[in-house]
Amino acid sequence: MKYDVLIIGSGGAGLTAALRAKEKGANILVVGETYPTRSQTCMAQGGINAALGNVENDSPEAHIADTLKSSGGIASERMIRQLCEDAPKSVHWLDSIGVPFSRTEDAKIAQRRLGGTSGIRACYSQDYTGLKILHTLYDQCMKEAIAFKNEYFLLDLCTENNQVTGAVFYNMRSGDTKTIHAKSIILATGGYSGLYYGYTTNTNQSTGDGIAAAFRAGARLSNMEFIQFHPTGLKNSGILISESARGAGGTLLNSHGERFVDELKPRDVVSRAIWEEMQKGEDVFLDIRHLGEAYIDENIPQERKLCLTYAGIDPVHEVIPIAPVAHYTMGGIAVDETLMSSIEGLFAVGECSNANVHGANRLGGNSLLEIVSFGRKAGENAAAFAQNVTDTITNTEQSAKTKAYIDALMEAPNEINFYQKRTRLGELCYQKAGIIKEASLLEDALHEVEAMTSQLHEMGLFDKGCTYNTNLIERIKFENTLTLAKPLLTAALKRKESRGAHFRKGYPVPDKAFEKVSICYTKKNTLIVDFKKVAS
Ligand SMILES: Cc1cc2nc3c(=O)[nH]c(=O)nc-3n(C[C@H](O)[C@H](O)[C@H](O)COP(=O)(O)OP(=O)(O)OC[C@H]3O[C@@H](n4cnc5c(N)ncnc54)[C@H](O)[C@@H]3O)c2cc1C
Repeated sequence: MKYDVLIIGSGGAGLTAALRAKEKGANILVVGETYPTRSQTCMAQGGINAALGNVENDSPEAHIADTLKSSGGIASERMIRQLCEDAPKSVHWLDSIGVPFSRTEDAKIAQRRLGGTSGIRACYSQDYTGLKILHTLYDQCMKEAIAFKNEYFLLDLCTENNQVTGAVFYNMRSGDTKTIHAKSIILATGGYSGLYYGYTTNTNQSTGDGIAAAFRAGARLSNMEFIQFHPTGLKNSGILISESARGAGGTLLNSHGERFVDELKPRDVVSRAIWEEMQKGEDVFLDIRHLGEAYIDENIPQERKLCLTYAGIDPVHEVIPIAPVAHYTMGGIAVDETLMSSIEGLFAVGECSNANVHGANRLGGNSLLEIVSFGRKAGENAAAFAQNVTDTITNTEQSAKTKAYIDALMEAPNEINFYQKRTRLGELCYQKAGIIKEASLLEDALHEVEAMTSQLHEMGLFDKGCTYNTNLIERIKFENTLTLAKPLLTAALKRKESRGAHFRKGYPVPDKAFEKVSICYTKKNTLIVDFKKVAS
């Protein structure tokens, strides 16, 4: 069977796209590696931006201005305008389908301040905003009888003459590979913070599988070097303590109990200030004790639970040890204004894409907005694209190639433990391609990544089983992170300037010559990184 629209990834972006494509009459299927409600979106805490002006005066123009400023000159004003002007409509749509937003005393949707913004703009549901949005979207999908295939892991995309025709999956329950054909595909597979294994707020899902599959199929990637570090991950686990804690008045202290930065500056500025304290041997803490137990339990209850569970600390009475960790990846699959990639019929939305709205730095609260607002746009555009696809190419070449890859992996000798390499890659990325980047360290990292890549054939499996073989999935995910490490490190090396989240030692300020997006692609098996002006 050939679907009109195949949606890969069942997080917030995938589910929103699915609802819209279905509404447009498309025959659709949603496929994901987990059950939808376990997607990364459920971890978002702080809120979703929309200039509703429910707490103080605000306007879409102010939202646009803040987003442009944060993007550091390498985003599209037109795309930002679309996003911010659509934001109130997107939030009212979420409200209409039942997202239980927290309320003001006069029953309007409550809003709070996140860092880097001029207005009180983030709409929230306590500090469970992403979870409530995701669950409500899933309820809505059930109501609309949308078809799902869960526990199907994307391996590769099928293309014919640079047009997408389907995708090959690994059925985690049976151990079979299966090809699903479609007239158009929406990738909504999330970001690649998982490269920073052990130093990220993200789950192990975030290995950029969709981005790697698109790259292998010939799609262009962009801005891979832009990684946002969140200032307040719990020190030993990376678990996020939401920006809403600082927005509410939480302060950052060094070991001497001194404040050293304006806590509401953009994330890159605060993360660098913390990193510099850490380089001096200081420990850094978040202090929310003065907010009081009643406020914490009413407005940020999850933060207290996370501190108690993962650090054994009660933030009502104690300061919280923190460190900056990789949180959000601005780069991804390069898409045009319709959200289509450089492969015909292949759309990408959410954190796996670069739709030129975040540029060099994403504003907190704009990512949930993107997955809802652009999720709907992707669903609509993919459905429209499918209507014009008349041929029924069902290429089997890729299916055979991918099956051969899995068979070879099952047979490969297990002489090098890839789990150790995954840990090493995380350290490498954090120490050498982290908050402050330096040419010699990036070069070291690149060499080590190349060495690891050349050893992949010796990194076999200890589990050769067919049912729920997590060893196999983790091995494939590790390979995907290596695939993406190369464009990330190469683009970071080539961008000899500091802009937004990308800070290069020796080049501390933005350089007009680099007021461009980086574009990565392969030509005759060689990685090419170009820089291109973004269409305003
Ligand atoms: C701790 C935390 C807090 C955050 N807080 C906020 C916030 O307050 N406000 C805000 O705006 N943003 C926030 N963000 C960012 C935001 O949550 C994410 O950017 C956004 O939810 C990404 O949504 P998505 O649908 O693009 O991807 P995801 O939600 O990551 O979904 C990806 C989907 O793809 C599937 N998938 C992945 N690989 C494969 C594969 N190989 N095969 C099949 N399926 C696959 C996954 O199973 C999942 O269903 C936060 C992020 C984190 C980690």
